Amino acid sequence: MDRYAVIGHPIKHSQSPFIHQQFAEQTQQQLDYQRLLAPLDGFADSLSHFASQGGVGCNITVPFKTQALEIADELTPRAKLAGAVNTLHLLADGRWLGDNTDGAGLVMDLKRLGVKLTGANILLLGAGGAARGALAPLLAEQPAHIVIANRTPERAEELAEHFAAFGNISSAPLTELTQPFDIIINSTSASLQGESLALTNDVLQENTCVYDMMYDATDTPFLVWAKEQGLTRRFDGLGMLVGQAAESFYLWRDVRPDVLPVLDALRKQLATTL
Ligand code: NDP
Repeated sequence: MDRYAVIGHPIKHSQSPFIHQQFAEQTQQQLDYQRLLAPLDGFADSLSHFASQGGVGCNITVPFKTQALEIADELTPRAKLAGAVNTLHLLADGRWLGDNTDGAGLVMDLKRLGVKLTGANILLLGAGGAARGALAPLLAEQPAHIVIANRTPERAEELAEHFAAFGNISSAPLTELTQPFDIIINSTSASLQGESLALTNDVLQENTCVYDMMYDATDTPFLVWAKEQGLTRRFDGLGMLVGQAAESFYLWRDVRPDVLPVLDALRKQLATTL
């Protein structure tokens, strides 16, 4: 049976085994998918051990996405642009292909939710790995403009420069945002620390759509803030998580799973862990 895994540190809270087992059942694929805890200084060793045990593909999570980029023998264009790898696929000649499916998962989810990206003015909060992975797929949808705003403004400036050739993109300090946006995507880990971002109402208009890449059994601080501002189009990143997994599954198995039933099952499971 083909073996897959999600490799990270820590790893025990990863939902990937649940998602991929559901995809496998749904598409009648025989595969095994496990969590793999790699020591902080032992990602490369863990990966070769996994391959020697019959591993043919894996998802990579915090903090190994950059190391996976370096280990990959070949990269997809979107992984190269993102500067990070979240999916490794063992090719027939024994080389690892590195891909980044995070941004495709985000765009897939936004489309599922009926959010119109083409022609939209988008505010992307944060300039870390998740923002970097999201930018090429977002720009491919031809938004009118993307503004990146980050706590450390230099990182946002650097990212805007890196992607300038792919569309209309600029950066602004978090504290100096004055115009309203159609879509605000939070890719910061502020919600993870239970913190809200100090945004003013100036960035909002009546039907602004807000999306937090983070997800939890209850609303994240960012989504609580959006609700307090009276916004009705508020979404968390659980659909992005299932979407990026579906892209990885497609790369490995050449079959596109149906995301919706798995997203429903995962949301129910998260609610029971409350
Ligand atoms: P990184 O550590 O690479 O980046 C973190 C970003 O958050 C940086 O821009 C950082 O700013 C900013 N930040 C952190 N704390 C604060 C704060 N208190 N106030 C303002 N900004 C803050 O993380 P990732 O990019 O990998 O992940 C970010 C989030 O995205 C996480 O919540 C993660 O769970 C989520 N994610 C969700 C996915 C999904 O499938 N749904 C996939 C990938 C990520 P600075 O540069 O100033 O430090």
